Amino acid sequence: MSLPIPPSHIVIFGRPGSGKSSLAERLSLDHGYTLMRTGELLREAVLRRDPLGVQVESLLKSGNLVPDPVIAALLERTLTGPGTGRILFDGFPRTMGQVRILEQLEQTRGFRVDCFLEVAISREAAILRMTGRRVCPECGATYHMANKPPQAEETCDLDGARLERRKDDALEVIEARQRVFDESTLPVLDYFRTHAPERYRRVDGEQASEAVYAETCRVLGLEDYTLRGQ
Ligand code: AMP
Repeated sequence: MSLPIPPSHIVIFGRPGSGKSSLAERLSLDHGYTLMRTGELLREAVLRRDPLGVQVESLLKSGNLVPDPVIAALLERTLTGPGTGRILFDGFPRTMGQVRILEQLEQTRGFRVDCFLEVAISREAAILRMTGRRVCPECGATYHMANKPPQAEETCDLDGARLERRKDDALEVIEARQRVFDESTLPVLDYFRTHAPERYRRVDGEQASEAVYAETCRVLGLEDYTLRGQ
């Protein structure tokens, strides 16, 4: 069976390091999807130091998941009104408990996810990508030791500052996040792959980001604006 083209409500899945969040950002900018990112909502709550933020701060630092009821409360207060417009869920659902939360939200808010999109990448490739990331602490420029290395080793091309890893790219956090994905989120992917195969799509996340975007547009029936004018 085919998808409604283009799909209006999408869930994007991918292990940490798959590039799913950059892809989600691009889909949002080019195609008008509203991003619903639980990770970002949680980080904002931590910065505001509201009660929910205080509760989850240490879990976020460790790379472990926050409890399902917290995610339910977060979405309840964020998803107001009926589900109109295009929504792209990034980072939710991550557990089987959250699948039930999504199903309840679909009923109470009157929308239906019409595509589950998996950005597929092996654990090894994801770890390699994440361990290679570097950021300049002065200007925020980003580098990758394999794909986008600085000219001088571990030094920012723009201001000469010594490059650092992002805090959540510490090795033990990377490993923890991969383990959490394998244990809690892979069963969610299996669930949708078997229960909703007509709405399930998979793209190869090991390609260069341009190719992943192009494949995604093709699969979802969206126009690939980078092809315009070629
Ligand atoms: P992300 O930016 O999606 O990688 O999320 C960053 C962190 O926020 C994760 O490592 C978790 O600690 C937490 N988090 C984000 N979304 C969820 C979710 N749906 N369920 C549980 N924890 C989450």
